[in-house]
Amino acid sequence: FFLVLEGGEAVGKSTQVQAVAEWVRARGHEVVVTREPGGTEVGAKVRAIVLDPGTGHLVPQAEALLYAADRAHHVGTLVRPALERGAVVISDRYVDSSLAYQGAGRALQVEDVARISRWATGGLVPDLTVLLDLPAEVAAARRQARDGGAGDRLEAEPTDFHERVRRGFLELATSAPHRYLVVDATEPAEAVSEHIRQHLRAVLPL
Ligand code: C5P
Repeated sequence: FFLVLEGGEAVGKSTQVQAVAEWVRARGHEVVVTREPGGTEVGAKVRAIVLDPGTGHLVPQAEALLYAADRAHHVGTLVRPALERGAVVISDRYVDSSLAYQGAGRALQVEDVARISRWATGGLVPDLTVLLDLPAEVAAARRQARDGGAGDRLEAEPTDFHERVRRGFLELATSAPHRYLVVDATEPAEAVSEHIRQHLRAVLPL
């Protein structure tokens, strides 16, 4: 079972990834927790290139291809082998992050990003994507409180960028509702966790 958590920055994704992993593990499944970018050793180097402030601005196409390279290696060496042996794989971000950030957020066509993503992953689609949805202003306030607003990117992106990213995620969820659970991330973490558990009880194989 391939479970992905998606959403913008400061939506509480890493907290929920850990919580859901513990819960699934307690139900007796092998759980592999991973993330994009950076889920593999090579991926960590790619992550450093795309997110390291020292790199300067990347051409959008180059940025998208680096994310795709990270993803191809991640799927090929970690995600697919784990799924094949029956593990539950929980990934912090996947293809939708590229569609939302490099596509909806930046200059690229979503369909171009979708095409390279399909090629990079051999068409691997999550069984369920949990989208943690948070208005951009709320996320900005949380980021400000957490790290002064910059995060680990070169510079803090404007709120309208984050709102475009958010809309991009929501559109993806609307286009394939059977593969998504959209959760209101303004709720307390425990309530968000409970929504996710409720849904997983129904869809996780025993
Ligand atoms: O998930 P995490 O917050 O660690 O991701 C780091 C950053 O990488 C995100 O905040 C986002 O700005 C960026 N990112 C991106 N495109 C992706 C994945 C992540 O722009 N496909």
